[in-house]
Amino acid sequence: MEKYDLLPRQLMHEGTCTPEDFFTPTALDRATIERIHHSEYIDKLLALDLDKKEARKIGFPLSKQLIDREIIIAGGTIQGALKALEHGIAMNIAGGTHHAFKAHGEAFCLFNDQAIAAQYLLDQELVDTILIVDLDVHQGNGTAEIFESNSKVFTFSMHGEKNYPFHKEKSDLDIALEDGCSDEVFLNILEETLPKLIAQNQPDFIFYLCGVDVLETDKLGRLGMSIAGCKQRDTYVLELCKKQGIPVQCSMGGGYSKDIKIILEAHANTFRTAKNIFG
Ligand SMILES: [Zn+2]
Repeated sequence: MEKYDLLPRQLMHEGTCTPEDFFTPTALDRATIERIHHSEYIDKLLALDLDKKEARKIGFPLSKQLIDREIIIAGGTIQGALKALEHGIAMNIAGGTHHAFKAHGEAFCLFNDQAIAAQYLLDQELVDTILIVDLDVHQGNGTAEIFESNSKVFTFSMHGEKNYPFHKEKSDLDIALEDGCSDEVFLNILEETLPKLIAQNQPDFIFYLCGVDVLETDKLGRLGMSIAGCKQRDTYVLELCKKQGIPVQCSMGGGYSKDIKIILEAHANTFRTAKNIFG
């Protein structure tokens, strides 16, 4: 997708980032992926051997290249999470593949990058409790299923009630928003909820899925947020992480406004906000 190429260029062009701020992720080993995804599912993907129904759910034609790419993206989320433990924050310019379940992919998601990274941090005993804050317009249904019975990972999804997925899984906390939800309503709910979740769960790591498909201009999203509101959302989450000293990894998630400039601006705002807060 075009945005993954344009976003880093924009960030460097404007001086928000320098080339030294970037790292090139490497692919994950299979054992790390298998901690989340079923072995038969991984086999089928690697052999490009999904049946028609499974392929239709994913929504794009599979290729070895695409699968390799998603494995590298998930690697980027793990490697970013390790950097966040060191520096407070890390961003994946892609990722946010929250519709990938343990044993199947959906809606352009093959492997669930933040779920794989969360499990990795737990396995390595780097953290004890994780909070996943999913503010993409679509419910994090794969993530919810994956951590359904895992008490170390609290899944929080705020999403458009009438948006895909139509059958929603059960996150630890779901907040469904009405069509056209304004900045004010969205931010009020977020500000009321997130500090409570942090106080209750005492996470020592946060994964933030900061999709910009919450915008009014989004072709798929049904909410009514402005670019400024979306930036306030990011500012609120990242300031809270900083204040509370909780490391945070951000994956970009969705953004499907008709005008690519709007998508870029909203995603770039997340990076600008991170830079302002974390320096
Ligand atoms: Zn989305």
